[in-house]
Amino acid sequence: MKVPEEIIEQIRRQSDIVEVVGAEIPLRKRGQNYVGLCPFHNEKTPSFNVSPERQIYKCFGCGKAGNAINFVMEFHGLSFPETLKSLAGKLGITLPQDSSEGYQIKHNRQELAYKILEEAAEYYAALLVEPIGRTALDYFRQRDFSTETIKQFKLGFAPDSWDATRKELAGQGFNDQELIDAGLIVEKENGRNYDRFRNRAIFAIRDFLGRVVGFGARQLGDDKKQPKYINSPQSIVYNKSKILYGMFEAKNAIRNKQSAILVEGYSDAISLFQAGIENVVASSGTALTPDQLKLLSRYTKKIIIIYDSDSAGVAAAEKGLELAVRQGFDVSIVSLPEGEDPDSIVKKHGKNTFNLYLRQAESFVEFKLSLYTKRGLLDTPPGQAKAIRDVVNIISMVPDRLQHDFYISRIANLMNLNESQIKRIYDEKSNIERRQNRKEKKQESPNVIRHGPALKLHDFDETDEIPDTQRKTIDVIESLLPEEYQLIQIALYDEESLGLILNKYNAGYDKFLTEDGQRLFRLITSVANKGNDIIDIIINGEYNEVDTQVLTQIAFDKQSPTKNWAKFGATIPELENDIHIRDIMLRLELISIDNEMQSVLKGVGEQPDAEEINALLTKTKILGERKNEIENILLRVDDELPED
Ligand SMILES: [Zn+2]
Repeated sequence: MKVPEEIIEQIRRQSDIVEVVGAEIPLRKRGQNYVGLCPFHNEKTPSFNVSPERQIYKCFGCGKAGNAINFVMEFHGLSFPETLKSLAGKLGITLPQDSSEGYQIKHNRQELAYKILEEAAEYYAALLVEPIGRTALDYFRQRDFSTETIKQFKLGFAPDSWDATRKELAGQGFNDQELIDAGLIVEKENGRNYDRFRNRAIFAIRDFLGRVVGFGARQLGDDKKQPKYINSPQSIVYNKSKILYGMFEAKNAIRNKQSAILVEGYSDAISLFQAGIENVVASSGTALTPDQLKLLSRYTKKIIIIYDSDSAGVAAAEKGLELAVRQGFDVSIVSLPEGEDPDSIVKKHGKNTFNLYLRQAESFVEFKLSLYTKRGLLDTPPGQAKAIRDVVNIISMVPDRLQHDFYISRIANLMNLNESQIKRIYDEKSNIERRQNRKEKKQESPNVIRHGPALKLHDFDETDEIPDTQRKTIDVIESLLPEEYQLIQIALYDEESLGLILNKYNAGYDKFLTEDGQRLFRLITSVANKGNDIIDIIINGEYNEVDTQVLTQIAFDKQSPTKNWAKFGATIPELENDIHIRDIMLRLELISIDNEMQSVLKGVGEQPDAEEINALLTKTKILGERKNEIENILLRVDDELPED
C-alpha cells in the first residue's frame, strides 16, 4: 500500500509518543522525559526513554530508537502499512485507497484468499466434531490435545471426498479460480478440479497476525502411496519460507521470555504450547530460512533448536544453526534421545522433564563437536584439524567479537587441547579478515587529542544484555570532542540552528576534528532541508546503524545546552544560541591551533638553520596571535556578536 507522504506525516504528527508507548508499557516521568523498562531487551534498570518534546523513544541499553510509528511496528511486529492502518484507525484518519489498479487487484485477491481460507478453516473445524470427523479427532486425542487447544489452533478434518470442500465454498459464493488461488483445489486440464485435502487431519497455518494462510494436512489412513503430510502450495498469501508455525500464539511469550524454542513439527509446537511452554514455533519441515529469522528477530535474538535425532533432523539443525549464528542470534541446541521428540517427552514425562532438557541445551560449539565425535572425525589428527577449522569458522561468524574468546576456550576444553592451539587457527582466519578491514578503514588523524564528553551514558546492570551495536555506539560517542558533541546536538535541534552553523559560521564538516565527527555531521547535512525533523529522517532512513544510534543518543542527552534553551519555551533567544555556536566554533579552532603548533614543532629538524628558525617563528607567531584573539573573545562576557 502506498500511503501519500502527507498522510504519513499527519499520522506521525497526531500520534503522541507517550500515549502510544504508555499504552503498552508502564512509563514514569523523569525530568522532561518518561522512562520505563525496555520492551525490546531484558533489563532491570529502566533505560527506555520517551521524549514528548521530540516525539521519539530511545533505549540507552540496547540502542533501539524511533517514533510512534516505529514503536508500533516493532512492538506488535507489524509491517509499515499495517502500522499506518492501525494508527490511522485510532486517530480517525481515513487512509485513501491506492488508486493504482495493479495494487488494487492484487490487494483484493489477497483479501479474498484470506477470507476463503478462514471459511475453509471453519468448515474443517466444524467437521472435526461431527461423526464423520471421528478418525481425525481420535488422532488429535491420541496426542492429548484438549478441546481448548484444538479450538485455539484451529485443528480440523478434511472429508474423504473429491469435491466436498469445493462444493461447500461454492455455496458461499466462491468460484473455482478463487479456490485455486487460495490453494484449496487442484486444477485439472479437463476442468474437473478437485479438493486438495482429502481424508486428512487439518492444521490451519496462520501468519503472525493470526490470519489463516494455508493448511498442513496429515494422512489418517495408512496408504503407503500417499505422503504423510501435504501442505498448501505457495500462493498469494502463503510463502512457507516466511512463515513460522505457531508464531501468532507464541509471540507474546517469546517477547517475554526473550527466547524462542524451535521445533520441527506442528504437533511438537502444539504439545509444548499446551504444556505451558508457550514460546515455541515450528519451522514445519524446512530448515530455517533468512526470512523466518528476520521475523523472529522482531521478538528475540535467542533461539533454542530442538531437533529429532534422525539424520534429516540433524541436517536441518546444522543448517539452521549456521544461518542464525551469522545473523547474530544466540543459538543453542537440545538433542533429544533416540526415538523421542518434544511431543513424546512432554506427553510421557511432563513439562518439568522437558524443562530439564532445555536446561541442558548445548552451545553450537558443543553440538558440532559431538556430531564430529559421532561421525568418527576426531579420531585422526587431520580429522581433528578439519573439525576445529569448521567450528572456528562458525565462531568467526558470530557478530559479537566479545564472544569469540569464550567459544575458543570451550573448544579447547571439550577437545582437551591447549587453548593457544585453537587460538592460532582462529588468528590465522581473523588476521586475514582484519587485514582486509583495515585496508577499507581510513587512517585516523594522529594529532587529535581524544577526550569524550563528560556525560554519563548509562548505568549498565551487570545482567543487562548490551548489544554489540550499542557498545560501538558508546565508542563513537566517546571518541567525539565535547565541542563536536555539542555542535552535533545543536545541529539536530532544529533546521534553524543547523542553518546558523552552516550559513552564519560557514562551518562544514571540515571544521570537525575527528573522523567520527566529520562523518556524523556530513550525515546530518545530507538529510537536512527535507522539511521533517532531522532525527526522525535519520531514524527512518537506511543509514549506518551505529551512526543512527549515536545521533539519537546525542539528541536525547539531558545535559545538553539545547535542553536549557528549551526551558525558555518555544521562543529560544536567538542571541544566546548564536553566541553559543560561535564559542563552540572558536574552541574547536583553538584545539586545531594547538594541534598545528605541535605538528610544526615536530617538523623541525635536529639542528635547524636560521631560515628554518625564522619560518618557524613566523608560523608560531601567527598561530599564537590567533590563539590570543580567540581566548579574548571567549573571555569577554558582554560581547557584541561578530559582524556578519
Ligand atoms: Zn532496550
